[in-house]
This record gives sequence, structure tokens and C-alpha cells, in this order.
Amino acid sequence: MLEISSNVENILYLISAAMFILGIKRLASPATARNGNRLSSVAMLIAIIVTVIKYTDTNIQWIILGLIIGSFFGLLLSKYVQMTAMPQLVAVFNAFGGAASAIVAMYEVIFQNSVDQSTFVLASVAFATIVGSVTFTGSFIAFGKLQELLTTKPILLPLRNFINIILIIAVLVLGVLLSIPEYSDVNYLYIMVGISLILGILIVIPIGGADMPVVVALLNSYSGIAGAGAGFVLGNPVLIISGSLVGASGLILTRIMTKAMNRSLLNVMLGGFGSEEGSSSSGEEETRPVTSLSPDDAAMILGYAESVIFVPGYGLAVAQAQHQINELSGLLKEKGVSVKFAIHPVAGRMPGHMNVLLAEANVPYDELKDLDEINSEFDRTDVAVVVGANDVTNPNARTDKSSPIYGMPILNVDKAKSVIVLKRSMASGFSGVQNELFFLDKTNMLFGDAKDSIEGMIKEVRELD
Ligand code: NDP
Repeated sequence: MLEISSNVENILYLISAAMFILGIKRLASPATARNGNRLSSVAMLIAIIVTVIKYTDTNIQWIILGLIIGSFFGLLLSKYVQMTAMPQLVAVFNAFGGAASAIVAMYEVIFQNSVDQSTFVLASVAFATIVGSVTFTGSFIAFGKLQELLTTKPILLPLRNFINIILIIAVLVLGVLLSIPEYSDVNYLYIMVGISLILGILIVIPIGGADMPVVVALLNSYSGIAGAGAGFVLGNPVLIISGSLVGASGLILTRIMTKAMNRSLLNVMLGGFGSEEGSSSSGEEETRPVTSLSPDDAAMILGYAESVIFVPGYGLAVAQAQHQINELSGLLKEKGVSVKFAIHPVAGRMPGHMNVLLAEANVPYDELKDLDEINSEFDRTDVAVVVGANDVTNPNARTDKSSPIYGMPILNVDKAKSVIVLKRSMASGFSGVQNELFFLDKTNMLFGDAKDSIEGMIKEVRELD
């Protein structure tokens, strides 16, 4: 059996932790993100190998079997899960991450009689078990809502906040009792797990489907924090560092998302928002007239424009039209048109959704402009082309105090000289509200699947001289 000294082990753990930090840093830009991912994967491999060598004197065959089964399912998921289903996948990963941390922590108390049963270790066990168990059931509820296996509407139980507070106090008391070596009893641990699992369900069911991606980001943070807790139990520095990184980045992401949706975290967590949302066909039938055009007409307008801003949204992801939009943009640039892409932070269904899609189609990174950068340019732009975006372009968010999206920063598409909107119908977006942009005189609707519409435009632009 291989053996390594504790010095070598610590150095390898340190290298792995440093690689995690560099890897995350590289995820900040699309240009370096792939490299960052590879770096972090190698870091994880180093950490796994060192841990396996350190802890496994017998039964290595079980670990190898686990690695093979896990890698097989990982490969299948990465090949077959659609980009639009990523939040669900992340929810499931969080659930397993939380459960793993809770199980590791509990194992130390239940089976390892020789373990250091100091207050610090026992408190870490209590912490990792509570947070890990809440994450486990909370993430599965989030998965069920996102996958629409459960109702996407908030489930508002009577006295829910009161019940939650009582349960939180109960787990905290049990956690404290477990942490005091003189009073510590494994039965406290079992009751604490039971209550934490119920808490996970109760905390997430009152939250509407529209807020689920925010909840997933928060639970992602919890799974990291639980991992860091398990790291303290095991005295494993790389687990503490990587868990803290996940915890911190999940919190930052949650903050970015709530800010972009003009919501507070408390407002999201108290639930109830979105009881009337979730279906793109919800609401009353729209009867007001709109102006529509054909792909040929749209191509003519674009071919003779000097500047065009594409505004992608969730519909681009549904239509998988990212390659076509890049091709159309390339043709327009060949004709001397200035082309940019306006990226809203919550366009699509997960943070960075549009960046990932457009990067996959090799849209040059310098053409992707975020909200703050691009908003002042719309009034100088000839045509804004909205491709399957809706809520993130709704001018009512600026003015209509009764709108559920009031206050959400939007892309000022309505300021462009003319607007073309690609979507299939007059159905609303995720928030369930109609978009006043569609009824402006300067707006032309191009109805149809975005991929088909853009393919039609490409054909016509090629024929323009
Ligand atoms: P929206 O959900 O507002 O609108 C998407 C539009 O795409 C729909 O109106 C739909 O209209 C159209 N569409 C769907 N399929 C196609 C298709 N095949 N071809 C053409 N159009 C299509 O998307 P946005 O990106 O504008 O906004 C995102 C929303 O999601 C915001 O409300 C945001 O708050 C919310 N959200 C986003 C999160 C994130 O992290 N990105 C997280 C949580 C919530 P039609 O059916 O007529 O085609």
C-alpha cells in the first residue's frame, strides 16, 4: 500500500487548494473559464488521490467502484442534460453535497469512538449535520419545483414562519447539547437530523418557482458551508478551503441575482412571490394590435442598418439558436454593420446563461456587453433585435409600481431607433406579465421559433448586395 508523509500530504493539499482558488478566479471571464474548470478538476483529482492514499489501508476496491460508478453518471449527465435544465442539475448536486457532509460528520460521532470528542469537533459535527440535512431536502424540493414535478406555486402553510422559528430553535438547542462533551448523546444527533430534514422542506416550499434559481444558488452556498464544517470534523484543510470557497461564491451569486431582480434575500426566503407566475401562457388573452413582419423584411432592416444590438433571452436557449445568431452577426459585420450583444444578468434561467450559450457559438467576448455598459448605447442604435427575451426588456419595470418586476433593472431596448422582437406568440415571460415594448410604434414582432426566424433572416441577408 502506498504511503505519504504528512508533510508531503499537506503540501499536496495546499497546492490543490491554491489551484481551486486560481480555477475559480479564471471562471470570471469567458476567455479563461474553460481553463479554470480544467485547473479545478485537476485540483480535485489531486485532493482525492491524497485522501484515498491517506485514509485507505483496506477496501480500496470499494473506492474504485464508487469512482467508476460516479464518473459514469457524471459523463452521462454532462452529455445529455440540456443547458435549460442546469439549475435542476445543480440542485441535485447540492442535495448530494449536503447529504455527504452530514453523513461524514455523523459517522464521526456514531462509529468513531476514538475520535477527538472535544466541544469544537462536536460543534462542527452539529453544524455540518444541520446545514447538510437542510440542504439535502431543500434542494430536492427545489429540484421538484424546477422540474415541475411539484407545483411551482408557493405552498403557504398557516403559521409557517412561527413553526420554522420553533424548529430552528429546537435544532440549535440540540446542537448545543450535542457539543457539550458531558451532555453529548447520539440520540440528540438523530432528532436533530430529523428536524433539519423537515426544516429543509418547510423553508423551500413557500418559495415560488420563479425564485427557485436564487434558492438553488443559496443552497449551493449551504452545501459548501456544510462541506467546510465536515472539513473541521475531519481536520482536513482542503475540504475546509474548498467548502468555504463554495459557500462564499454561492452567497455572492445569490446577492448578484437578487440585486438584478430587485429583490431582497429576506423577501425571497419569506416566500409567496410568484403565486401567479410560472406559465408563459398565463394571464388574459392579449387583444391589442401589434405590428409583425417576415424574416425577409427583418433582414432588409438589418442589412441597411449601421448599428445593431442583439438582446438574447431565455427563448434563445429554448430554440438553441446561438450558432445562427453568431452566423447572422458575422454576415452583418461583413456588410459593415456594428454589432453588439446586450447581456442582462438574469436573462435566461441561470446566472451567466447567455454568456455560456454565446461562448459555445464562438461569439467574440468583446462583443458581449453587460447592462451597465450597453444601456447608454441603445438611443444611438438603429435596430435592437430581441431574441427570445421578454422580462429583461419590459419598460414597465421602470415605471409601473404595481408590476411584479417593478424596480428590476432592464435593458433599455425601447430607446433604440427601431426594435425587432423574435418570439413565437404574445405569451408573457417568466414573471407572467405582458411586455409593453411589443406595443410601441417602433417595434416589429417576428413570430416563430427563434432558430427558424434567424435562419430565414440569414438567407435573405446573404442575398442583399
Ligand atoms: P423570459 O422568461 O422573460 O421570456 C422568454 C421569452 O422567450 C418568452 O416570452 C417566450 O415567448 C420566448 N421563447 C420561448 N421559446 C422560444 C423559442 N423557441 N423561440 C423564440 N422565442 C421563444 O426571459 P428573459 O430571458 O427575458 O428573462 C428571464 C426571466 O427569468 C426574468 O424574469 C428573470 O427574473 C427570471 N429568472 C432568471 C434567473 C437567471 O439566473 N437567469 C433566475 C431566476 C429567475 P413565446 O412563448 O411567445 O415564444
